[in-house]
Amino acid sequence: MKALSVLGSTGSIGTQTLEIVEEFPERFRVVALTAGRNLALLCKQVQRHQPEVVALADPALLSELRERLQALNLPRCPELVAGNEGLCQAAAWSSADLVVTGIVGCAGLLPTLAAIEAGKDLALANKETLIAAGPVVLPALERSGSRLLPADSEHSAIFQCLQGTPWADTARLSTGVPTPGLRRIQLTASGGAFRDWAAADLAKATVADATSHPNWSMGRKITVDSASLMNKGLEVIEAHYLYGVDYDHIEIVIHPQSIIHSMVELADSSVLAQLGWPDMKLPILYCLSWPERLETPWRRLDLTELGQLTFRAPDPAKYPCMDLAYSAGRAGGTMPAVLNAANEQAVALFLEERIHFLDIPKLIEAACDRHRNDLKAQPSLDDVLAMDQWARRFVRDTSSVPLAA
Ligand code: NDP
Repeated sequence: MKALSVLGSTGSIGTQTLEIVEEFPERFRVVALTAGRNLALLCKQVQRHQPEVVALADPALLSELRERLQALNLPRCPELVAGNEGLCQAAAWSSADLVVTGIVGCAGLLPTLAAIEAGKDLALANKETLIAAGPVVLPALERSGSRLLPADSEHSAIFQCLQGTPWADTARLSTGVPTPGLRRIQLTASGGAFRDWAAADLAKATVADATSHPNWSMGRKITVDSASLMNKGLEVIEAHYLYGVDYDHIEIVIHPQSIIHSMVELADSSVLAQLGWPDMKLPILYCLSWPERLETPWRRLDLTELGQLTFRAPDPAKYPCMDLAYSAGRAGGTMPAVLNAANEQAVALFLEERIHFLDIPKLIEAACDRHRNDLKAQPSLDDVLAMDQWARRFVRDTSSVPLAA
């Protein structure tokens, strides 16, 4: 019986993790939950899973949560904590064996580090944490011996392919050390909401358009990132940190059906791929069950039902975020933190309808350009947090003046 701490339990990753727990009650139990603002759903989850601790991001909501839980007459009320400190407590909860990081954005950084410092294994969904703070997270993993299991479907696909190689030793599990024999990674991308739009039509893109993903059901921020292909750009940096492959050997290929979740090319030129319907439950389950495979009744892949799988190169002119991410990854140090924070802030402004979709890459590029002379190659946690705050402020301030066409 594996005990889980589920960070961001009210989100898309969190709710799917809890569905898996309900499907395998003999294998998994929940000891800690954390949420942002969705108290109604959180209370239902507490009632169903009876965790030992519950953490809320916003301390101001704690008394309302306490009242709501008291009204439920639970046999045992969980310990209630809040704020960054509370999230970190839940992440490092002593009885948890594995921490699922489903918080969106860099808000997940401190809880993730707390889990690592407590020696917990992680199912990493919250990619922004690794992208912003790779130079801090990777050494912390080395020190603590925590294992980082990738929940992102592409990185799970790579991880699953590598299980079949002679280098599948767990010592190399996601610590940024170059994986021997791994020559190239090909990350597949659905192409997001705008994959069938002409680049010229993006000028008309609305929030409703950008948040309608053709293949995956996900939170709003990552759905916009998919539409801009920033999600794939962030995944390139994630793959670099997880598997130690240099940027020249990590490629993006548009694969509209989202059946192949990514591919690896090995030293002898063999290419391995992992296939499945686009459903996040499989990569999440694999994090939870690894190194075992559990029997599921889930829909089985039938290639004849699909008929064809297609591929094309992404258009850099249509998706400028992709090149911005490669360039930030190559610059290294604090640059990916700036890229990530600028993107988070720009996407938030877009979702509030305060900027246009096409302003997102312009604001990110401006932030990265401004940061170039201040880049720190070996940043501390404080450097990362300071640059994160700076980039958000920069984007907010810059967005309030008209942007160049
Ligand atoms: P959602 O927006 O659906 O959920 C985000 C979760 O984080 C919610 O529980 C939310 O709480 C909580 N949260 C929001 N802000 C804060 C904060 N400041 N402090 C603490 N908690 C907060 O996101 P997703 O589940 O889609 O994504 C989560 C992470 O997983 C992201 O990093 C994303 O990139 C990654 N990911 C997601 C995939 C998916 O299929 N969804 C696929 C691959 C990766 P509340 O709702 O209560 O306010």
